[in-house]
Amino acid sequence: MENWRIFGEELSPGEKKEITLRIPMGGKVNCGVLLPEAGRESGDYEMPAILLNGVKPGKTLLVTAGIHSGEFAGIPAVIRTAAELDPREMSGRAILLPCVNTSGFWTLNPATLPEDGFNLNHDYPGREDGTVGERVAAFFVRELFPRVDFILDFHGGSHGERMTPLVFFPTAPKVREASLAAALSMNLGYIIESEATRGEYSYAANNFGVPGLLLERGEGYFCDEEWVEADRKDLRLLMDHLGLVPAPAGTRDEGLHRRVFREAVYLDALEDGLWYPAVGKDEDVKQGQLLGVMEDFFGNRRAEYRAGKDGHTLYLSRGLAVPKGGFLIAYAVASSEV
Ligand SMILES: [Zn+2]
Repeated sequence: MENWRIFGEELSPGEKKEITLRIPMGGKVNCGVLLPEAGRESGDYEMPAILLNGVKPGKTLLVTAGIHSGEFAGIPAVIRTAAELDPREMSGRAILLPCVNTSGFWTLNPATLPEDGFNLNHDYPGREDGTVGERVAAFFVRELFPRVDFILDFHGGSHGERMTPLVFFPTAPKVREASLAAALSMNLGYIIESEATRGEYSYAANNFGVPGLLLERGEGYFCDEEWVEADRKDLRLLMDHLGLVPAPAGTRDEGLHRRVFREAVYLDALEDGLWYPAVGKDEDVKQGQLLGVMEDFFGNRRAEYRAGKDGHTLYLSRGLAVPKGGFLIAYAVASSEV
């Protein structure tokens, strides 16, 4: 195994390094910072990174959390995994980014970068000479996607959502099979095919042929220990599956019922309203079943939302305020047992 040169660093075999990535912003200020009170003059967007160089050849894994900065559970899961891993026992390499959207994190912005509203799970590929978010995305496209073999991106329910743990895998033919196999190695009962192309992992899948997964667990702005531990275990199972390092015995839940879904249906509000869901997360629903109602401030029912097909609820807005175009509920259809 050779030394690993990346981001201006050099790691010998078996070495772990904690660094701060500095993405040049062309002199722009008020960029992402690791500490709220420091670094604003640097003109760079700062992001924590842990690099692990194994002692045997193998795959290079990129793990990201905090792309949506209010989806917390993956962040400590990555930090814990970085601490427990010993690169002297590893094959291949790992780049762990526990919090990508540092500016959103410190400003309590739930999802996008506060500087420009850029969504790192929706607006790829960005631009080299663009806004802050565009430059962060362009950095990933230039520096990360060409040198990694797999991407895992941690997310969770947005603020105000109830969420069933699930994982999305890309539909792109070149990467579909490898991504699905990886999803099946983890402790997730809901595995959903995704046609997204402009998120981090989905852009890499569609344009660089890098297989990957987007894992969702937990609810916005909460960081329950149960979710953090489950995310940590899933990361260890993925590393085991990819041949980087074995997961401890008992990490995989062999008894878990795993279902693969070919399609998910997302309902958005057709009007401003007070949303009262009629179902919860993780429930079977029948075609025509009431999913929830929208009312006005006088208690008048303005609209009813019903399931168009038989399916299974994945995540939903808890209510109450949902403006026109806002997200209401997602349910999966067309499952197959595995
Ligand atoms: Zn997210």
